[in-house]
Amino acid sequence: MTGVMLVTGGGRGIGAATVRLAARRGYAVCVNYASAAGPAEALVEEISGRGGRAFAHQADVAREDEVETLFAAVDRELGPVTALVNNAGLTGQISRLDAAEAEAMRRVVEVNVMGVLYCARAAVKRMSSRHGGGGGAIVNISSAASFLGSPGEYVWYAASKGAVDSFTIGLAKEVAGEGIRVNAVAPGMIATEIHAAGGDAGRLERIGKTVPIGRYGDPEEIAEPVLWLLSEEARYITGEILKVTGGR
Ligand code: NAP
Repeated sequence: MTGVMLVTGGGRGIGAATVRLAARRGYAVCVNYASAAGPAEALVEEISGRGGRAFAHQADVAREDEVETLFAAVDRELGPVTALVNNAGLTGQISRLDAAEAEAMRRVVEVNVMGVLYCARAAVKRMSSRHGGGGGAIVNISSAASFLGSPGEYVWYAASKGAVDSFTIGLAKEVAGEGIRVNAVAPGMIATEIHAAGGDAGRLERIGKTVPIGRYGDPEEIAEPVLWLLSEEARYITGEILKVTGGR
């Protein structure tokens, strides 16, 4: 076994592609989901059917108590986590800031920022040599929004991903001497349901054409660099924010 991986929001989109690739590479995987049990359970069945090891667990990463229960479930089912992918995220409905609702912005910050902090903290407690752990690696899923700013679409989402980037740099330095590497992947335009969920299903095709490489990306094209950053091949890389944007 390569290790024990937890992918938050692992039932759909970029998370699901990461889970699939991780299982193929020999990880035992926990597929966390918030509300869509069907795709998460189907993914677990698919992996089990190929002889892999996986289970699904519902938890809202924005809730500290649910994150604690999630990590305890991983301990019990697979053993302590050695690889964490902080992937769960949302944008909120597309609008200018002056038309945005406070509750919607708060939810984005709670999931995209507090969720990452809670999960990383729980992982550090299990991975760090300071706590008797055997080391590990964390990849946070940021966004090109962090450096583009997403004006007119969701500046609050861009700000939440900026926080993820700063956190990645800081935590990487904090735990580098304890056997833990922390990196981020910042995807560009990737074909998932997040664009329709934000209220603009045509966004992918429209903006995809403006990407320097000439098209939008597939979730698998994010999963591959994530798995690489978690692997031994990236053992001297920490605190890095890797843009995977087709040149945006
Ligand atoms: P997606 O297809 O909409 O999937 C989002 C996933 O996050 C779902 O599995 C969802 O769970 C989960 N999730 C949402 N809120 C959650 C919560 N509170 N607790 C636990 N899980 C939660 O989106 P995606 O495009 O794959 O996005 C994955 C990550 O990539 C996000 O962090 C996003 O910001 C980032 N990203 C995406 C793009 C892109 O173009 N697609 C670009 C840059 C960055 P359920 O299945 O239960 O709903």
